[in-house]
Amino acid sequence: MNILVINCGSSSLKYQLIDSATENVLAKGIVERIGMEGSCITHTPAGRDKVVKTQPMEDHNEAVRLVIEALIDPEHGVIKSLSEIGAVGHRVVHGGEKFKTAVKIDASVIKDIEDLSSLAPLHNPANLIGIHACEKNMPGVPQAAVFDTAFHQTMPQKAYMYGLPYEYYEKYKIRRYGFHGTSHDFVSNRAAEILGKDRKDLKIIVCHLGNGASISAVKNGECVDTSMGLTPLEGLIMGTRSGDLDPAILDFICEKEGLSSAEMNTVLNKKSGVYGLSGGISSDFRDLTAASKEGNELAKMALETYCYHVAKYIGSYTVAMQGVDVIAFTAGIGENDTGVRKGVCEYLKFMGVNIDEEKIMTRGEEVTVSTPDSKVTVMVVPTNEELAIARQTLAIL
Ligand code: ADP
Repeated sequence: MNILVINCGSSSLKYQLIDSATENVLAKGIVERIGMEGSCITHTPAGRDKVVKTQPMEDHNEAVRLVIEALIDPEHGVIKSLSEIGAVGHRVVHGGEKFKTAVKIDASVIKDIEDLSSLAPLHNPANLIGIHACEKNMPGVPQAAVFDTAFHQTMPQKAYMYGLPYEYYEKYKIRRYGFHGTSHDFVSNRAAEILGKDRKDLKIIVCHLGNGASISAVKNGECVDTSMGLTPLEGLIMGTRSGDLDPAILDFICEKEGLSSAEMNTVLNKKSGVYGLSGGISSDFRDLTAASKEGNELAKMALETYCYHVAKYIGSYTVAMQGVDVIAFTAGIGENDTGVRKGVCEYLKFMGVNIDEEKIMTRGEEVTVSTPDSKVTVMVVPTNEELAIARQTLAIL
């Protein structure tokens, strides 16, 4: 069965068509600037050149229609008709406490995702727009919602409660939820598979280091802690997001700089992280590494601070799980930035982490970068959230 995986944002829509039998990607693409000037679709059929088509599109309905058009196009398409799409799997950001696994979408699931929008006001409404657009363009094709938060729902209460008055949890469900769950699940599972072991017998720390970054502790196959919180702003220092802060800093800056809370939110989400720390050089680790090599002190400091924070989290999750067998690096930085991996592992030598200096330089592929005598196995495991969504969609439908 072919499964269309959709990741819908407020003005963009990423898609992949995956053959669930072979797990091959038949085509992938992105529709950008939906409802804005300069909207376009970039469609890449597997093994062929990408096709970019700039075309005005009013809304997500139009975007989904264009995706289908591209998929069945006689020249650039990969299927003959819509009937060859057996199911649609949607990435949905917030499933709250309600969704502990992926689910088949029906009216009550849609209502629940709507009700959870207050916890993810930027994401859940956009995900719903994508669901409605697919319903409209592909009536009768079953759809599944795969939640970013679901994998983390196994966390014990001591890991998800904040030190706030309990009434806020009762009234507003303020707690740690965690995100990137599909990736943490996929990578921890794959790491165990590569090692020929059962995930149930392992203590794994997954470092998902992309533009957004989070880290999780997966003990005996279940998530027991993760660094992102009520929102994806908490935890590690990220590309442009601050990560952990003293909460009193916010009021202090607002008062000194005369910022509203919305403006402060923009600073925390868009102007902070390694981008802000480096004095605005870049949020991209390739640029920061280049600047650091040229002697830029702020770039160097930003990279050092980043690695230090990742290492500190690894330390705390080792305590949370009372040990660690595997540390897996994934996502854009985890898979490609050899400097960050080395920088983090440098801190872990005391716990018997021994790195193979050659292997740690490998980029973008599955590899064990620790030596055979290392007390902890350190691996690079490329994530594949789309494949994970397709698998879960198939499983529940
Ligand atoms: P997201 O999905 O959160 O947008 P990704 O997982 O795609 O992010 O990661 C993107 C980031 O990965 C880039 O901003 C960059 O910092 C980093 N990155 C990508 N390729 C490389 C590379 N070859 N070397 C170092 N860093 C890289």
